[in-house]
Amino acid sequence: MGGLPAGSPLSTFLADCVLQEIDEKVNAKFKSILKWYRFLDDTFAALSDAREVDVILKFLNEFDPSLKFTKEMETEKGEGHSLTFLDVEITRLNNHCIRRHYIKTTQSDRTVGFNSAHPRSVLKGIVKGEVKRSFENCTLNQHRITEANRIREKYLKNGYPLSLITKALNERKPSKISVRKRDPPRIWAPIPYIKGLYEVVASMFRKFNVGVYSSTGCTIQSAASNGWKSKAPLKNEAGVVYGVTCKNCHKIYIGQTGRKLTERINEHKRAVLNKNNSNAVARHVMETKHEADFDNIKIIKREKKAGMRTLLESYTIAANATRKLNISPADNGMTQWIDVFRETFPDVI
Ligand SMILES: [Zn+2]
Repeated sequence: MGGLPAGSPLSTFLADCVLQEIDEKVNAKFKSILKWYRFLDDTFAALSDAREVDVILKFLNEFDPSLKFTKEMETEKGEGHSLTFLDVEITRLNNHCIRRHYIKTTQSDRTVGFNSAHPRSVLKGIVKGEVKRSFENCTLNQHRITEANRIREKYLKNGYPLSLITKALNERKPSKISVRKRDPPRIWAPIPYIKGLYEVVASMFRKFNVGVYSSTGCTIQSAASNGWKSKAPLKNEAGVVYGVTCKNCHKIYIGQTGRKLTERINEHKRAVLNKNNSNAVARHVMETKHEADFDNIKIIKREKKAGMRTLLESYTIAANATRKLNISPADNGMTQWIDVFRETFPDVI
């Protein structure tokens, strides 16, 4: 293989297949490797013998002339030695590892502005997400406090109210147990987000215990493509990423199959009848007494190639993290790639 086109989502998948093989060979050969963590093209390794570093690097560089590996060694920091990996700075001190959230010095504080046209819940989610990530990356409480101050400053600069930021920070305190003020809605409805109107409509619906979530409304693309293509009857479809929605809440099960879709859907139906706990749709039905909407199966994407279909399935699951019914995470680090996919496949949710 001479190379892969940049920007194609399939390239990530194929490159990962090659690197997985290299991971296995290196780990089988060198016993000095204590830890070996790889994310895409970045690997963090801990060795029992520092002299082996260059031997391993030479071994890696002999795989293929088109693959070039470089190394970065830990540097002295205070009393320990530290090295950054992705967004974590790892410091080795007296044979212990201390993790800390790491931000590139070149990174600006610019983020989605509070005045941009997004529902309040999305803006809250952005702050909460950053708090969660940075807190989880820190081993020590003192570093979490530094992170809390940084996040507060950053979001204030972007126009977020202090009360919202403080709430997001407080929610992460382990001692705080959140108390639900009201029962979660039993019915959910998607509404296109229009600033001002969405909030009013959402609060009206809430009085009737109907949950509302924002959806992309009609885009030029969807207007131009929806309903124009003649579609094969559902039962004849094969090679699809599909969704089974719940009739009572807005949750969705995302799956893929290379066989006829009806065959796969019949398996779900049987699982529901047999109360098969390992089937996510069946489990949701059992746990909530909700009903799966088997009459309106969504075809998310038609894709004949199995690898690509799996990739699209993972992406769709990751993109629907809050409403997915799937039991296994099946995320495969996909969350990192959601934006790339969204641009490549604007028609997939
Ligand atoms: Zn449900």
